[in-house]
Amino acid sequence: MAAWEELVRKVVPYTPGEQPNCSNIIKLNTNENPYPPSPKVLKVLQEIKIENLRKYPDPTSQILVEALAEYYGVSKQQVFVGVGSDDVLAMSFLTFFNGSKPILFPDITYSFYDVWAELYRIPYKCQPLDENFEIQTEDYLQECGGIVIPNPNAPTGIEKNLEELEKIIAGNPEIIVIIDEAYIDFGGTSALSLLSKYENLLVVQTFSKSRSLAGMRIGYAFGNEKLIKYLNDVKYSFNSYTMDTTALLIGTEAVKDEVYFRETLQKVIHTRERTKKELQRLGFIFPDSKSNFIFASHPKYQAKELFEALKAADIYVRYFNKPRINNYLRISIGTDQEMDVLIRFLEKYVL
Ligand code: PMP
Repeated sequence: MAAWEELVRKVVPYTPGEQPNCSNIIKLNTNENPYPPSPKVLKVLQEIKIENLRKYPDPTSQILVEALAEYYGVSKQQVFVGVGSDDVLAMSFLTFFNGSKPILFPDITYSFYDVWAELYRIPYKCQPLDENFEIQTEDYLQECGGIVIPNPNAPTGIEKNLEELEKIIAGNPEIIVIIDEAYIDFGGTSALSLLSKYENLLVVQTFSKSRSLAGMRIGYAFGNEKLIKYLNDVKYSFNSYTMDTTALLIGTEAVKDEVYFRETLQKVIHTRERTKKELQRLGFIFPDSKSNFIFASHPKYQAKELFEALKAADIYVRYFNKPRINNYLRISIGTDQEMDVLIRFLEKYVL
Protein backbone atom coordinates (compact mmCIF):
# COMPACT_ATOMS: atom_id res chain seq x y z
CA MET A 1 0.00 0.00 0.00
CA ALA A 2 1.39 3.45 -0.87
CA ALA A 3 2.11 5.64 2.16
CA TRP A 4 -0.61 8.13 1.18
CA GLU A 5 -3.16 5.35 1.12
CA GLU A 6 -2.91 5.03 4.87
CA LEU A 7 -4.48 8.47 5.11
CA VAL A 8 -7.38 7.62 2.84
CA ARG A 9 -10.82 7.44 4.46
CA LYS A 10 -11.74 3.95 3.33
CA VAL A 11 -15.39 3.06 3.10
CA VAL A 12 -17.44 0.19 1.77
CA PRO A 13 -20.05 2.05 -0.26
CA TYR A 14 -23.77 1.44 -0.42
CA THR A 15 -24.81 -0.57 -3.48
CA PRO A 16 -27.84 0.90 -5.22
CA GLY A 17 -30.17 -1.29 -7.31
CA GLU A 18 -29.30 -1.81 -10.94
CA GLN A 19 -30.32 0.90 -13.42
CA PRO A 20 -29.98 -0.95 -16.73
CA ASN A 21 -29.74 1.21 -19.78
CA CYS A 22 -32.57 -0.28 -21.80
CA SER A 23 -36.25 0.46 -22.04
CA ASN A 24 -37.74 -2.95 -22.74
CA ILE A 25 -37.38 -4.38 -19.27
CA ILE A 26 -39.90 -4.50 -16.45
CA LYS A 27 -38.14 -2.67 -13.69
CA LEU A 28 -39.35 -3.64 -10.23
CA ASN A 29 -36.02 -3.41 -8.41
CA THR A 30 -35.64 0.10 -6.95
CA ASN A 31 -39.10 1.02 -5.63
CA GLU A 32 -39.61 3.71 -8.22
CA ASN A 33 -43.14 4.86 -8.94
CA PRO A 34 -44.36 3.35 -12.22
CA TYR A 35 -46.32 6.50 -13.08
CA PRO A 36 -44.81 9.74 -14.35
CA PRO A 37 -44.66 12.82 -12.13
CA SER A 38 -47.51 15.36 -12.13
CA PRO A 39 -48.12 16.88 -15.59
CA LYS A 40 -47.58 20.27 -13.94
CA VAL A 41 -43.93 19.29 -13.61
CA LEU A 42 -43.65 19.02 -17.39
CA LYS A 43 -45.07 22.52 -17.74
CA VAL A 44 -42.44 23.89 -15.37
CA LEU A 45 -39.69 22.13 -17.30
CA GLN A 46 -40.91 23.69 -20.53
CA GLU A 47 -40.98 27.13 -18.96
CA ILE A 48 -37.52 27.02 -17.38
CA LYS A 49 -35.44 29.88 -18.78
CA ILE A 50 -31.99 28.71 -19.72
CA GLU A 51 -30.79 32.20 -18.84
CA ASN A 52 -31.65 31.55 -15.18
CA LEU A 53 -29.27 28.60 -14.98
CA ARG A 54 -26.44 31.12 -15.19
CA LYS A 55 -27.16 32.05 -11.60
CA TYR A 56 -26.71 30.06 -8.41
CA PRO A 57 -29.92 28.67 -6.96
CA ASP A 58 -31.50 30.11 -3.80
CA PRO A 59 -29.39 28.58 -0.99
CA THR A 60 -32.39 28.66 1.37
CA SER A 61 -34.64 26.78 -1.11
CA GLN A 62 -37.47 29.14 -0.07
CA ILE A 63 -40.12 28.22 -2.65
CA LEU A 64 -39.88 24.53 -1.92
CA VAL A 65 -39.65 24.97 1.85
CA GLU A 66 -42.73 27.22 1.75
CA ALA A 67 -44.71 24.81 -0.41
CA LEU A 68 -43.91 21.91 1.94
CA ALA A 69 -44.67 23.97 5.06
CA GLU A 70 -48.03 24.96 3.64
CA TYR A 71 -48.97 21.48 2.44
CA TYR A 72 -48.03 19.76 5.70
CA GLY A 73 -49.25 22.53 8.03
CA VAL A 74 -45.95 23.34 9.73
CA SER A 75 -43.84 26.50 9.86
CA LYS A 76 -41.08 27.20 7.33
CA GLN A 77 -38.56 26.97 10.15
CA GLN A 78 -39.57 23.36 10.69
CA VAL A 79 -38.63 22.23 7.18
CA PHE A 80 -35.27 21.13 5.79
CA VAL A 81 -34.73 20.07 2.17
CA GLY A 82 -31.98 18.08 0.50
CA VAL A 83 -30.85 16.12 -2.52
CA GLY A 84 -33.12 13.15 -1.98
CA SER A 85 -33.73 11.80 1.49
CA ASP A 86 -30.30 10.14 1.27
CA ASP A 87 -28.78 13.61 1.50
CA VAL A 88 -31.18 14.63 4.29
CA LEU A 89 -30.39 11.46 6.25
CA ALA A 90 -26.63 11.77 5.69
CA MET A 91 -26.73 15.39 6.94
CA SER A 92 -28.83 14.31 9.92
CA PHE A 93 -26.37 11.57 10.87
CA LEU A 94 -23.56 14.12 10.68
CA THR A 95 -25.50 16.71 12.69
CA PHE A 96 -27.20 14.73 15.41
CA PHE A 97 -25.08 11.65 16.02
CA ASN A 98 -21.99 13.16 17.54
CA GLY A 99 -21.64 11.22 20.79
CA SER A 100 -19.71 8.19 21.96
CA LYS A 101 -22.70 5.93 22.66
CA PRO A 102 -23.85 3.75 19.77
CA ILE A 103 -26.82 4.76 17.67
CA LEU A 104 -29.48 2.09 17.15
CA PHE A 105 -31.28 0.85 14.05
CA PRO A 106 -32.73 -2.52 12.97
CA ASP A 107 -30.46 -5.31 11.69
CA ILE A 108 -32.63 -5.70 8.61
CA THR A 109 -33.26 -2.26 7.20
CA TYR A 110 -32.18 0.31 4.66
CA SER A 111 -28.58 -0.65 4.02
CA PHE A 112 -27.35 2.93 3.82
CA TYR A 113 -27.59 3.50 7.62
CA ASP A 114 -24.50 1.49 8.52
CA VAL A 115 -22.63 3.01 5.57
CA TRP A 116 -23.19 6.56 6.89
CA ALA A 117 -22.32 5.44 10.42
CA GLU A 118 -19.04 3.99 9.11
CA LEU A 119 -18.34 7.04 6.96
CA TYR A 120 -18.77 9.45 9.87
CA ARG A 121 -17.26 7.05 12.42
CA ILE A 122 -20.45 6.94 14.46
CA PRO A 123 -20.63 3.90 16.74
CA TYR A 124 -23.76 1.85 16.02
CA LYS A 125 -25.61 -1.24 17.15
CA CYS A 126 -28.09 -3.15 15.03
CA GLN A 127 -31.17 -4.36 16.91
CA PRO A 128 -32.49 -7.66 15.52
CA LEU A 129 -36.01 -7.78 14.13
CA ASP A 130 -38.05 -10.63 15.62
CA GLU A 131 -38.84 -13.80 13.65
CA ASN A 132 -41.73 -12.00 11.91
CA PHE A 133 -39.41 -9.17 10.91
CA GLU A 134 -41.06 -6.84 13.43
CA ILE A 135 -39.18 -4.04 15.19
CA GLN A 136 -39.30 -4.62 18.97
CA THR A 137 -40.08 -1.43 20.91
CA GLU A 138 -38.11 -2.55 24.03
CA ASP A 139 -34.94 -2.81 21.94
CA TYR A 140 -35.00 0.96 21.57
CA LEU A 141 -35.58 1.83 25.20
CA GLN A 142 -31.97 1.76 26.35
CA GLU A 143 -29.08 4.18 26.60
CA CYS A 144 -27.82 5.09 23.14
CA GLY A 145 -26.53 7.95 21.00
CA GLY A 146 -29.49 8.19 18.62
CA ILE A 147 -32.13 6.11 16.85
CA VAL A 148 -33.11 5.63 13.23
CA ILE A 149 -36.30 3.79 12.39
CA PRO A 150 -37.68 3.49 8.90
CA ASN A 151 -41.44 3.37 8.85
CA PRO A 152 -42.55 1.35 6.95
CA ASN A 153 -39.31 -0.59 7.21
CA ALA A 154 -37.37 -1.51 4.08
CA PRO A 155 -37.04 -4.09 2.63
CA THR A 156 -39.84 -5.70 4.65
CA GLY A 157 -42.58 -3.12 3.98
CA ILE A 158 -43.91 -3.59 7.54
CA GLU A 159 -45.39 -0.56 9.27
CA LYS A 160 -44.85 -0.02 12.99
CA ASN A 161 -47.89 1.57 14.57
CA LEU A 162 -47.65 5.11 15.79
CA GLU A 163 -48.39 4.35 19.46
CA GLU A 164 -45.38 2.03 19.58
CA LEU A 165 -43.20 4.55 17.77
CA GLU A 166 -44.31 7.22 20.21
CA LYS A 167 -43.10 5.05 23.11
CA ILE A 168 -39.64 5.05 21.50
CA ILE A 169 -39.65 8.80 20.90
CA ALA A 170 -41.02 9.61 24.37
CA GLY A 171 -38.67 7.13 26.04
CA ASN A 172 -35.56 8.79 24.59
CA PRO A 173 -35.79 12.52 25.32
CA GLU A 174 -31.99 12.87 25.45
CA ILE A 175 -31.27 11.76 21.90
CA ILE A 176 -32.61 12.44 18.42
CA VAL A 177 -34.99 9.87 16.96
CA ILE A 178 -35.14 9.89 13.16
CA ILE A 179 -38.18 8.32 11.54
CA ASP A 180 -37.40 7.62 7.89
CA GLU A 181 -40.74 7.78 6.12
CA ALA A 182 -39.62 7.15 2.53
CA TYR A 183 -42.67 4.91 1.96
CA ILE A 184 -45.21 6.42 4.36
CA ASP A 185 -47.59 7.75 1.70
CA PHE A 186 -48.52 4.26 0.51
CA GLY A 187 -50.86 3.66 3.45
CA GLY A 188 -48.88 4.30 6.64
CA THR A 189 -49.53 6.84 9.39
CA SER A 190 -46.90 9.57 9.58
CA ALA A 191 -45.20 10.59 12.82
CA LEU A 192 -45.59 14.21 11.71
CA SER A 193 -48.52 14.60 14.12
CA LEU A 194 -46.09 14.02 17.02
CA LEU A 195 -43.83 16.89 16.04
CA SER A 196 -45.40 19.46 18.37
CA LYS A 197 -45.09 17.04 21.29
CA TYR A 198 -41.47 15.92 20.99
CA GLU A 199 -38.47 18.14 20.37
CA ASN A 200 -36.21 15.13 19.75
CA LEU A 201 -38.13 13.94 16.66
CA LEU A 202 -37.02 14.29 13.05
CA VAL A 203 -39.35 12.98 10.32
CA VAL A 204 -37.72 12.41 6.93
CA GLN A 205 -39.64 11.98 3.66
CA THR A 206 -38.89 11.96 -0.07
CA PHE A 207 -40.25 12.90 -3.49
CA SER A 208 -38.66 9.78 -4.97
CA LYS A 209 -41.45 7.27 -4.40
CA SER A 210 -44.91 8.75 -3.89
CA ARG A 211 -44.27 11.81 -6.06
CA SER A 212 -42.54 9.90 -8.86
CA LEU A 213 -39.43 12.09 -8.82
CA ALA A 214 -36.53 9.78 -7.97
CA GLY A 215 -34.57 11.27 -10.86
CA MET A 216 -34.92 14.81 -9.51
CA ARG A 217 -33.39 13.98 -6.09
CA ILE A 218 -35.58 15.82 -3.59
CA GLY A 219 -35.98 14.89 0.07
CA TYR A 220 -37.11 16.78 3.15
CA ALA A 221 -37.34 16.63 6.90
CA PHE A 222 -39.59 18.06 9.59
CA GLY A 223 -38.40 18.84 13.08
CA ASN A 224 -38.67 21.61 15.64
CA GLU A 225 -37.07 24.94 14.71
CA LYS A 226 -33.93 24.33 16.76
CA LEU A 227 -33.32 20.95 15.15
CA ILE A 228 -33.77 22.35 11.66
CA LYS A 229 -31.45 25.26 12.43
CA TYR A 230 -28.70 22.83 13.53
CA LEU A 231 -29.26 20.80 10.39
CA ASN A 232 -29.01 23.89 8.19
CA ASP A 233 -25.83 25.01 9.96
CA VAL A 234 -24.20 21.71 8.99
CA LYS A 235 -25.57 21.92 5.46
CA TYR A 236 -24.14 25.42 5.00
CA SER A 237 -20.83 24.15 6.28
CA PHE A 238 -20.82 21.43 3.67
CA ASN A 239 -22.45 22.79 0.50
CA SER A 240 -24.65 25.90 0.34
CA TYR A 241 -26.33 24.92 -2.90
CA THR A 242 -27.54 21.38 -2.47
CA MET A 243 -30.81 21.99 -4.34
CA ASP A 244 -30.54 23.03 -7.97
CA THR A 245 -32.83 25.57 -9.64
CA THR A 246 -34.75 22.94 -11.60
CA ALA A 247 -35.32 20.70 -8.57
CA LEU A 248 -36.67 23.65 -6.59
CA LEU A 249 -39.20 24.60 -9.28
CA ILE A 250 -40.26 21.04 -10.04
CA GLY A 251 -40.54 20.02 -6.40
CA THR A 252 -42.72 23.04 -5.65
CA GLU A 253 -45.17 22.25 -8.45
CA ALA A 254 -45.29 18.58 -7.51
CA VAL A 255 -46.28 19.39 -3.91
CA LYS A 256 -49.03 21.70 -5.11
CA ASP A 257 -50.66 19.05 -7.30
CA GLU A 258 -52.39 17.14 -4.53
CA VAL A 259 -55.08 15.67 -6.79
CA TYR A 260 -52.54 13.94 -9.01
CA PHE A 261 -50.54 12.80 -5.95
CA ARG A 262 -53.61 11.15 -4.38
CA GLU A 263 -54.69 9.54 -7.66
CA THR A 264 -51.26 8.01 -8.27
CA LEU A 265 -51.04 6.71 -4.71
CA GLN A 266 -54.43 5.05 -4.99
CA LYS A 267 -53.39 3.32 -8.21
CA VAL A 268 -50.19 1.96 -6.66
CA ILE A 269 -52.01 0.82 -3.49
CA HIS A 270 -54.72 -0.87 -5.54
CA THR A 271 -52.14 -2.73 -7.63
CA ARG A 272 -50.23 -3.72 -4.49
CA GLU A 273 -53.32 -5.26 -2.90
CA ARG A 274 -54.12 -7.13 -6.10
CA THR A 275 -50.53 -8.37 -6.37
CA LYS A 276 -50.63 -9.62 -2.76
CA LYS A 277 -53.61 -11.84 -3.63
CA GLU A 278 -51.93 -13.17 -6.77
CA LEU A 279 -48.66 -13.92 -4.98
CA GLN A 280 -50.57 -15.68 -2.21
CA ARG A 281 -52.34 -17.82 -4.81
CA LEU A 282 -48.92 -18.85 -6.14
CA GLY A 283 -47.77 -19.94 -2.67
CA PHE A 284 -45.56 -16.97 -1.82
CA ILE A 285 -45.37 -15.79 1.77
CA PHE A 286 -44.68 -12.21 2.75
CA PRO A 287 -45.21 -9.76 5.59
CA ASP A 288 -48.09 -7.36 5.04
CA SER A 289 -46.70 -4.39 3.14
CA LYS A 290 -47.73 -0.77 3.60
CA SER A 291 -45.15 0.37 1.05
CA ASN A 292 -44.76 0.25 -2.72
CA PHE A 293 -43.02 -3.14 -2.63
CA ILE A 294 -43.63 -6.66 -1.39
CA PHE A 295 -40.95 -8.75 0.32
CA ALA A 296 -41.77 -12.27 -0.76
CA SER A 297 -40.41 -15.76 -0.31
CA HIS A 298 -41.53 -19.09 -1.79
CA PRO A 299 -41.31 -22.25 0.32
CA LYS A 300 -40.38 -24.40 -2.69
CA TYR A 301 -38.13 -22.16 -4.77
CA GLN A 302 -34.92 -20.39 -3.84
CA ALA A 303 -35.19 -16.61 -4.14
CA LYS A 304 -31.84 -16.41 -5.91
CA GLU A 305 -32.99 -18.86 -8.54
CA LEU A 306 -36.23 -16.94 -9.05
CA PHE A 307 -34.34 -13.65 -9.19
CA GLU A 308 -32.08 -14.96 -11.94
CA ALA A 309 -34.92 -16.54 -13.90
CA LEU A 310 -36.89 -13.30 -13.74
CA LYS A 311 -33.88 -11.30 -14.85
CA ALA A 312 -33.32 -13.61 -17.82
CA ALA A 313 -36.92 -12.79 -18.76
CA ASP A 314 -36.19 -9.05 -18.45
CA ILE A 315 -38.08 -8.67 -15.19
CA TYR A 316 -35.84 -7.00 -12.62
CA VAL A 317 -36.56 -7.39 -8.90
CA ARG A 318 -34.18 -6.95 -5.94
CA TYR A 319 -32.37 -9.77 -4.21
CA PHE A 320 -30.19 -9.27 -1.10
CA ASN A 321 -27.62 -11.95 -0.45
CA LYS A 322 -27.60 -11.30 3.29
CA PRO A 323 -28.25 -13.42 6.38
CA ARG A 324 -31.94 -13.94 7.24
CA ILE A 325 -33.22 -12.35 4.02
CA ASN A 326 -31.38 -14.31 1.35
CA ASN A 327 -34.49 -16.27 0.46
CA TYR A 328 -36.63 -13.23 -0.24
CA LEU A 329 -37.31 -11.07 -3.26
CA ARG A 330 -38.20 -7.42 -2.93
CA ILE A 331 -40.69 -6.71 -5.67
CA SER A 332 -41.58 -3.08 -6.36
CA ILE A 333 -45.14 -2.35 -7.41
CA GLY A 334 -45.32 -1.48 -11.11
CA THR A 335 -48.35 -0.79 -13.28
CA ASP A 336 -51.14 -3.37 -13.43
CA GLN A 337 -49.83 -4.54 -16.79
CA GLU A 338 -46.29 -4.97 -15.48
CA MET A 339 -47.51 -6.94 -12.47
CA ASP A 340 -49.59 -9.13 -14.80
CA VAL A 341 -46.44 -10.02 -16.75
CA LEU A 342 -44.63 -10.83 -13.51
CA ILE A 343 -47.47 -12.99 -12.22
CA ARG A 344 -47.81 -14.85 -15.52
CA PHE A 345 -44.09 -15.60 -15.46
CA LEU A 346 -44.17 -16.79 -11.83
CA GLU A 347 -47.30 -18.83 -12.50
CA LYS A 348 -45.45 -20.86 -15.14
CA TYR A 349 -42.48 -21.21 -12.86
CA VAL A 350 -44.04 -22.28 -9.59
CA LEU A 351 -47.35 -23.95 -10.46
N1 PMP B 1 -34.90 5.62 3.03
C1 PMP B 1 -35.30 4.41 2.62
C2 PMP B 1 -35.86 3.46 3.63
C3 PMP B 1 -35.18 4.05 1.27
O1 PMP B 1 -35.54 2.83 0.87
C4 PMP B 1 -34.67 4.98 0.35
C5 PMP B 1 -34.57 4.62 -1.11
N2 PMP B 1 -33.43 4.02 -1.53
C6 PMP B 1 -34.25 6.23 0.83
C7 PMP B 1 -34.41 6.52 2.18
C8 PMP B 1 -33.60 7.24 -0.04
O2 PMP B 1 -34.41 7.70 -1.05
P1 PMP B 1 -34.13 9.05 -1.82
O3 PMP B 1 -32.70 9.44 -1.56
O4 PMP B 1 -34.37 8.73 -3.25
O5 PMP B 1 -35.08 10.05 -1.25
